[in-house]
Amino acid sequence: MSSLTRMLLMSILVTLGAVGTCAIASAQTTDNRTVNGVQQAPHRHTPTCRQWVPPQTKTIQRRVWVPGGAERIWVPAVYQTRYNTNGNPTQVLVKRGYHKKVPGRGRYVVRSERLEVPGRWQYMCGH
Ligand SMILES: [Zn+2]
Repeated sequence: MSSLTRMLLMSILVTLGAVGTCAIASAQTTDNRTVNGVQQAPHRHTPTCRQWVPPQTKTIQRRVWVPGGAERIWVPAVYQTRYNTNGNPTQVLVKRGYHKKVPGRGRYVVRSERLEVPGRWQYMCGH
């Protein structure tokens, strides 16, 4: 499993954990809901409230930046026009041409990743 997949999985687990905590917290509070002005009895979770969501394997598409490798480019020589005593122009080499290493252009590629989502209990009653 790649570190990226592990990170994603962790964030999903954290999210699931937060949902689970929320459901438990709401189970402990007595909510006095009113429907059409009539007070409803506080909801108490029963075993039928929960449903087992089986583990899933998801395939997700992710755009990943791939940096370019180093490239060698030719930097051309620099010449300057000088005039000799007769007034005729001549090209004088100021700086020789040379090869220079520059970072290549990166690009985005779309990669498929398999994501294992563990099974979990989920409250379906809305409380
Ligand atoms: Zn319930």
